[in-house]
Amino acid sequence: MGTKKDLVIVGGGIIGLSTAYFALEKGWNVTVVERNAPHGDNCSQGNSGMIVPSHFVPLAAPGIMGQAIRWMRDPESPFSLKPSLSLDMLKWGLRFYLASTRAQVDQAAPILRDLNLASRDLYIRWSEAGIDSGLAKKGLLMLCKTDTMLHEEKELAQEARDLGIPAQVLDAKETAALDPNVTMSIAGSVYYPKDCHLDPSRLISSLLASIEAKGGKVLWNHHVTGWKKLGSSIVALETSHGEVTADEFVLCGGVWSDDLVKPLRLSIPMLAGKGYSLTLPTPIELPSVCSILCEARVAVTPMGDKLRFGGTMTIGKPDQVIAPEKIRGITKSAASYLPRFKAQHFDGIQPWVGLRPVTPDGLPYIGRTNNWKNLTVAAGHAMMGLSLGPITGQLTTQIVAGERTTVSVERLSPDRYAA
Ligand SMILES: Cc1cc2nc3c(=O)[nH]c(=O)nc-3n(C[C@H](O)[C@H](O)[C@H](O)COP(=O)(O)OP(=O)(O)OC[C@H]3O[C@@H](n4cnc5c(N)ncnc54)[C@H](O)[C@@H]3O)c2cc1C
Repeated sequence: MGTKKDLVIVGGGIIGLSTAYFALEKGWNVTVVERNAPHGDNCSQGNSGMIVPSHFVPLAAPGIMGQAIRWMRDPESPFSLKPSLSLDMLKWGLRFYLASTRAQVDQAAPILRDLNLASRDLYIRWSEAGIDSGLAKKGLLMLCKTDTMLHEEKELAQEARDLGIPAQVLDAKETAALDPNVTMSIAGSVYYPKDCHLDPSRLISSLLASIEAKGGKVLWNHHVTGWKKLGSSIVALETSHGEVTADEFVLCGGVWSDDLVKPLRLSIPMLAGKGYSLTLPTPIELPSVCSILCEARVAVTPMGDKLRFGGTMTIGKPDQVIAPEKIRGITKSAASYLPRFKAQHFDGIQPWVGLRPVTPDGLPYIGRTNNWKNLTVAAGHAMMGLSLGPITGQLTTQIVAGERTTVSVERLSPDRYAA
């Protein structure tokens, strides 16, 4: 165990709480500063709950720009861009475009694989240690409606196997046999046995209870408004309830992280990837394996007796306005792949909205900053934050302790877009 530190974490989402958990394991004094009230919402609560070694391709990948333009003609489509005349957004778009290359995917894929597999192991360890999340190690099905999509997914499955991630191509009959609890109208699927699913809000409650039981503190309703500095060190957070001092600071502020570091003259470009979920309390059918409806980009996750449908990505500045056409897109897709589900099953279901913190190159920022001795950033996990929570928490505390990290973080530097 290293020297005892006072560690303050900004943000009580999955990334902040995972960091708190591992910091407490090191015996440090840990305080999480969160602007929400206890049990308040953030992106970590209503998401699809998937742990995804299958997701080794970042959002910025070849073909995404063309696909995005085609999708933008359809208001119900899974992807759209909400442009604004801001320099930040223009710069983000240019960086995203430049990152959408084969070479970038080839570099990112083994990193995402290593992070996701290591995080999966930590989730299993957490589950054995009594963190109650409803973790189910049952794999994930990529359900394809059309032969064209099945062909693309087959090629991706081959890439996965080349990276050491098991993947099996199944026809419609074999898929039905794998999950007989649900009726599907599909051409076939790819099965990723290493993927898992859980109930994110159950996870967050249990993780919080464990952090508090280990002596960690959470300062709820504390809005961080600035940083008190001395030379190249941070001495305190300025918050709506006064200053909070510490030796070390970790920023886990989700999509708000870039704005939070601007007064420190740092730049960690990030936009919001707005998405929605709809949870049926008593679904007409309850699959046992989680799945992704590939063409529609909708995730379907059983959570106890409930069934959650999550999807869409509207890239823009953070806002939580619900777009009814996107909700319609999700419910129509559900009925198209899973024909026992009808649009009226979703009547009266309140959509949940979440803001994914999306970086231009599809990799999170995990690391110390060059300019500030005692600031570490852990943010920007886009559509994989739940999956990558535990490994991010472990890596962040290893970085703060000055230890060798379990997975290399060289490519994840928060200074990679520094001016
Ligand atoms: C529809 C949908 C489905 C998804 N499905 C999956 C999935 O299946 N698997 C997966 O891995 N990921 C999924 N994700 C992505 C995942 O939810 C996010 O990547 C993850 O929750 C990000 O966690 P975070 O801790 O970085 O951010 P958040 O959960 O947003 O937490 C950040 C916290 O910082 C706090 N904060 C911000 N600013 C301040 C301030 N100034 N002062 C104090 N506190 C502040 C916020 O209040 C918030 O609580 C999904 C996302 C969506 C929208």
